[in-house]
Amino acid sequence: MEKKDIASYSFEELKMEMERIGEKAFRAKQIYEWLHKKLVDDFSEMSNLSKTLREKLDAEYEIRKVEMVTRQISKMDGTNKFLFCLNDGNMVESVLMKYKHGNSVCISSQVGCRMGCRFCASTLDGLERNLTPSEMLRQIYQIQKISGERVSNIVIMGTGEPLDNYDNFLKFIHMISDEHGLNISQRNITASTCGIVPNIRRLAEEKLQITLALSLHGSNQEKRKSLMPVANKYHLPEVLEACDYYFEKTGRRITFEYSLVHGVNDTKEDAAELIEILKSRNCHLNLIPVNPIKERDYQKPDKKSAENFKNKLEKNGINVTIRREMGSDIDGACGQLRRKSMQGV
Ligand code: SAH
Repeated sequence: MEKKDIASYSFEELKMEMERIGEKAFRAKQIYEWLHKKLVDDFSEMSNLSKTLREKLDAEYEIRKVEMVTRQISKMDGTNKFLFCLNDGNMVESVLMKYKHGNSVCISSQVGCRMGCRFCASTLDGLERNLTPSEMLRQIYQIQKISGERVSNIVIMGTGEPLDNYDNFLKFIHMISDEHGLNISQRNITASTCGIVPNIRRLAEEKLQITLALSLHGSNQEKRKSLMPVANKYHLPEVLEACDYYFEKTGRRITFEYSLVHGVNDTKEDAAELIEILKSRNCHLNLIPVNPIKERDYQKPDKKSAENFKNKLEKNGINVTIRREMGSDIDGACGQLRRKSMQGV
């Protein structure tokens, strides 16, 4: 029988599970803290539990491993990129970025992705499977342990679409911000979505304090559709309405992401349309010069035209930044490292 993934139980679930196996509820607190605060890898390290209990746990449960395969450190900005191997041999990648205000980790939410965005390396081979809550959590735990750095911010912007793995993603958010675990403030967490409308609305009802980032990439329905197949299903106006609803329910300002692709979505007309969409909204716009992947012929605009694009928006009162490129010497773009390793190059 396959052992149960103990680190995917929320605190409440672990309490019920301990009761079910005839243990006192306070054991759940101890075990949860070993797993999610002290970040141990093995039941044998849980020194305030009896040997009998440790053996009992070991027989029925496992602490699923997320093992480091490679770690690349950027010479340009100190960004660390990790490739991790999961229980079943699948690989995921995560990134540690060091900023003045603290350390930020970018995690993956799925193995592969089925959303098909044209410029993205993570989606080229489709979706393999969802990540469990423990596999999302452990990317962060491992990075904290390996680097010795405390993680203060989390972005769910690695491989995968978090709202296509809704239940596990939601549980992950509750567990990473649980006071019995790393207790990372939800205000320091950003989740990025390509725009799965019903799940944006569901998320708005969860009363979370996380920031939602919406991948826009096109300033009208047609253009967005040409870059993002998901736009066939959820049209731009309803995506924007769902974002407004999220803001209304949570009071959290939306971040819009816009990958600048030379000659595709970086023209004057694009800027003008973007202004129309964003000017009435209390939001932030993040411009990301596209990171070219070899399977597609998309190029980034030069620095000057990216600046011009930004200035046009700024002049019209849009709150906008160009995302600083980090780790571009270490396959920084989504899914590039995992892909390289799968292809053995
Ligand atoms: N599935 C989520 C998370 C994806 S990654 C989403 O779609 O939002 C986070 C951001 O990086 C998204 O906005 C995504 O569109 C963008 N992205 C992916 N590949 C990129 C590339 N090669 N260059 C620039 N941005 C990219």
